[in-house]
Amino acid sequence: MARERSEYDVIVVGGRIAGSILACLLGDRGHRVLVLDRATFPSDTLSTHFFRAPALRAFDQIGVYNEVQSVAPHLTVNYNVIDGIAFQEPVDRPEDFPFYMCVRRITLDDILVRRVKSTPNVELREGAKAHSLLSDHGRISGVAWKVSGQEQQAHAKVVVGADGVRSFVAKQVGAKTEQNEPVHRAMYYAYFRGLEANEGPAAEFHYRENNLAYCMPCDDDLTMLAVSVPVDRFGEFKRDPERSLLNELDTMTALAPRLVDSKREGPVRGSGSIPCYLRIPYGEGWALVGDASMALDPWSGQGIDQASTHAVFLAQRIADYLEGQSDWEAAMQAYHQERNEFSKKVYRRTSKFSADLRPMTRAALAKRGLG
Ligand SMILES: Cc1cc2nc3c(=O)[nH]c(=O)nc-3n(C[C@H](O)[C@H](O)[C@H](O)COP(=O)(O)OP(=O)(O)OC[C@H]3O[C@@H](n4cnc5c(N)ncnc54)[C@H](O)[C@@H]3O)c2cc1C
Repeated sequence: MARERSEYDVIVVGGRIAGSILACLLGDRGHRVLVLDRATFPSDTLSTHFFRAPALRAFDQIGVYNEVQSVAPHLTVNYNVIDGIAFQEPVDRPEDFPFYMCVRRITLDDILVRRVKSTPNVELREGAKAHSLLSDHGRISGVAWKVSGQEQQAHAKVVVGADGVRSFVAKQVGAKTEQNEPVHRAMYYAYFRGLEANEGPAAEFHYRENNLAYCMPCDDDLTMLAVSVPVDRFGEFKRDPERSLLNELDTMTALAPRLVDSKREGPVRGSGSIPCYLRIPYGEGWALVGDASMALDPWSGQGIDQASTHAVFLAQRIADYLEGQSDWEAAMQAYHQERNEFSKKVYRRTSKFSADLRPMTRAALAKRGLG
């Protein structure tokens, strides 16, 4: 087995939203970071990828905001249709980033990974699948991985799982769950060319009873169309994703006529297995961030805002520990608290309405005197 000569301050498993932001912030402060990802970049991943100010703020912190904001339209109008009743509102808050964006992950993650590659003190290994954690006197102390059939391993003061919803790090350390909600919905999506955007351009949310469709102009002049349906329809979507997506979009009366002149590009993809959970995000020598630490049903489109912001919190707390400002337990307690404080409303709202969106949409109509 090839043994790494070097030791690292931090090994991060997973190099997309959470992992890349964390690695850049730590590398910028002079800490030696190794990022392992089983993917090779540029590469796509399952996501309808719309995000708001929290993600834009995190991208700004690592200096990639200018590039991210230039690749796709700024969505400045929030356009809703609820069971045939339409209303729209400007996205005028928060003042620093008053717009949403929708950027395909093949584009967004490539911007982040290029930033990782150009960061002093950070090494990225692509095609590197982590398969075991190393430990020393009960504390996690490193990672073993395989790359091109070769076994490798390295040691670090801290190992972070930024490895997504099926986190191998969370599994290996037996991370406990502090809240969870079973899978209630399935989401499928595809890209269309030639679909005219509503004025704004707008981020569109079309609700029909307990079904939701998104329509978001994104990068490369494409529009991302997605539907989120109750999970008992997952079988139908899995059997025939193309037909199921089109049939569902067809029921959205304010959207369907606009689809006629557009053309789908690429496959229809999706998932019916994303639960909501909050995990205890740290233990001896390890921490979790992004979807590995907190997952949300994608209907609310919050994962990127949350993962990026949690990565900023974790970077500061790991730096406090590495720089001797704080012991491990105090640093991680602070991270845990910041994560929960930042995410509690979003977690509550996303998990509460994942089973049934109607109480939320009816309240939205009533609030505007439309119900
Ligand atoms: C259908 C769907 C639609 C969604 N839509 C939205 C949306 O509109 N807006 C939004 O904000 N969020 C959305 N999300 C959620 C969003 O995609 C996630 O919250 C976000 O990707 C989390 O980022 P992350 O960095 O934590 O993990 P990921 O982006 O999942 O990255 C994890 C990385 O870890 C790597 N990895 C995993 N295991 C290993 C291993 N053993 N060794 C090495 N590397 C490993 C993977 O290759 C991957 O690159 C959606 C999710 C789904 C499934």
